[in-house]
Amino acid sequence: MADIEQRTARADALGELLPPMTRNEAAVEAARCLMCYDAPCTHACPTHIDIPKFIKKIATENLRGSARTILESNLLGATCARVCPVQELCEGACVLGTEHKPIAIGRLQRHAMDFVYAKGTDLFQPGEATGKKVAIIGAGPAGLSCAGELAKRGHSVTLFEKRDLAGGLSTYGIIGLREPAEVARAEVAMVERLGVKLETGKELGTDFTLADLQANFGAVFLGVGLGATPGLGIPGEEYIIDGLEYIEQSKLDAPNLVIGRNVVVIGAGNTAIDCATIAKRLGASQVTMVYRRTEKEMTAYAHEYDFIKREGVSFCFLTQPVRVHAENGMVNSLECLRMSLGPADASGRPSPQPVAGSEFFLPADQVVKAIGQQKPSLASRLKLKTEKGFIQVNSNFETSLPGIYAGGDCIRARGAASTVRAVQDGKLAGHSIHERLVEHG
Ligand SMILES: Cc1cc2nc3c(=O)[nH]c(=O)nc-3n(C[C@H](O)[C@H](O)[C@H](O)COP(=O)(O)OP(=O)(O)OC[C@H]3O[C@@H](n4cnc5c(N)ncnc54)[C@H](O)[C@@H]3O)c2cc1C
Ligand code: SF4
Repeated sequence: MADIEQRTARADALGELLPPMTRNEAAVEAARCLMCYDAPCTHACPTHIDIPKFIKKIATENLRGSARTILESNLLGATCARVCPVQELCEGACVLGTEHKPIAIGRLQRHAMDFVYAKGTDLFQPGEATGKKVAIIGAGPAGLSCAGELAKRGHSVTLFEKRDLAGGLSTYGIIGLREPAEVARAEVAMVERLGVKLETGKELGTDFTLADLQANFGAVFLGVGLGATPGLGIPGEEYIIDGLEYIEQSKLDAPNLVIGRNVVVIGAGNTAIDCATIAKRLGASQVTMVYRRTEKEMTAYAHEYDFIKREGVSFCFLTQPVRVHAENGMVNSLECLRMSLGPADASGRPSPQPVAGSEFFLPADQVVKAIGQQKPSLASRLKLKTEKGFIQVNSNFETSLPGIYAGGDCIRARGAASTVRAVQDGKLAGHSIHERLVEHG
C-alpha cells in the first residue's frame, strides 16, 4: 500500500506541469489572435508552422484541420507544443506580447495535437512506394522527423536506434514535468504507422558499419545526438551521479530513484535545473546548484531560472567543486573553491579563476553533475569532417561523405540545441534526400 502511495506521489510530483486547455479556454484564447499578415510568430518558429492558420482552425472548432496545419510543418508537433522555449520563439515574437499577454501558442498547439492523438486519427498516409531505401541512425527528434518525411514520399525507411526505446531525449532526457514519455511514444508509433521500420537495440559502429549501410541503402541520415556527460576529473568522481541518468530514471523508473536529503547539483544549464527540480519535488530538503561563474553567464533560459528559484532551490555561484568526500561509501560533502571572473575564454564568457586559499565544504549526501554532453564521437570514427567537434554538413545537410546526411544536435556547432531545431533539420534533410533519390533515378 505504502509502495503504491509512493508511486502515485512521485508520479504526481513529476506529472505534466501545465494542465491541458479545455475546449472553452482554447476557443477564448484562439479568438484573441489577431491573425497577423506575415505573422512574426511564424517567422520565429524554426519549423515555420503557419500559426495564425492553425489558431483560426481552433477558433472555428476544426481541431483536425488545425493539427494537420501543425504537422505539415512539424511532424513532432505534440512534443514541440510542450518542450519548445516558446517565450524565446513564437510567443516571444507575438505582437500582443508588448502591451497584453502573448497568445498561448504552445498550449493551443498542444490542444490540437492532443485531440488527434486521443482520437487515434492519422492525418498522413505512406506515399506510393518508390522502391528507394533510406537508413536513418538515431530515433530522436531529428531521425524521426527525417524518417516521417521520407515515408510520406513513399521511400522505404529503416530507423536504427541503439537504445531499447525510440524517441531520443524526448523519451529519456526531457523531464516528465514538461513532456511525459508517453507523448514521445505516441509520436514514434505515428511514424511507424507511416511505414517506417524501427529497429531498436541496433547501434551503428557495433552491430553494423557505415559500409554495410552504403551497400544496402540509397542514402543514410545520421541523427545520433550528442554523447555522455563528460567527467569532472576530480577525486571522488565515482560518487557523482550522472544528471542524464537521474532524469532518465525519474521518467522511466521513478519509484526506484534514490533522492538525497541534501542534494548538490553541479552545473547551471537547463539540464541542471531539471535535476534540481526532480530532487526538490521528490523530497530533498535542501537542493543547491553549484556554478563556477555567475547568474549572468548561466546557460539556462531566464524563465527556467525563475522557475527553479520559485521551487526553493539555492545557488552557489562562483564555486568550483574540487573533491567529493565520502565515508563508508556514503557522500558527506563536496569540497569547493571560490572563483573570481577573469578575461573572456574561448566560449566568449569571462573565465573563472580559482581564489587561492578559499576552500570550503558544502554539506551533501548526493551530488549530481549536469555539465553538458560530449561531442558526437561517431564523427571521427566515421572519418567525417567536423566543425568544433560537431559533424559538418552543407546547406543540404549532406556530410563530407556523399549520400551521408546528418542533422539535429550532432551538427549543432552554432546556436543552442533544441528539439524544434532537430525536427527542422530532419525535415529539410529528408527533402534533400528525396531530391537525391529522385535525381539518381
Ligand atoms: C536534460 C535535457 C533537457 C532538454 N530539454 C529541452 C527542452 O525542454 N526543450 C528543447 O527544445 N530541447 C531540450 N533539450 C534538447 C533536446 O532534447 C535535443 O536538442 C533534441 O533531443 C535533439 O534531437 P536529436 O534527434 O538530434 O538527438 P537525440 O534526442 O539525442 O537523439 C539521438 C538518438 O540517436 C541514438 N543514437 C546515438 N548513436 C547511435 C548509434 N551509433 N546507432 C544507433 N542509434 C544511435 C540515441 O540513442 C538517441 O536515441 C534537452 C536536452 C537535455 C539533455
Ligand atoms: S503574432 Fe500573436 S496575434 Fe499575431 S498571428 Fe501570431 S499569435 Fe496571433
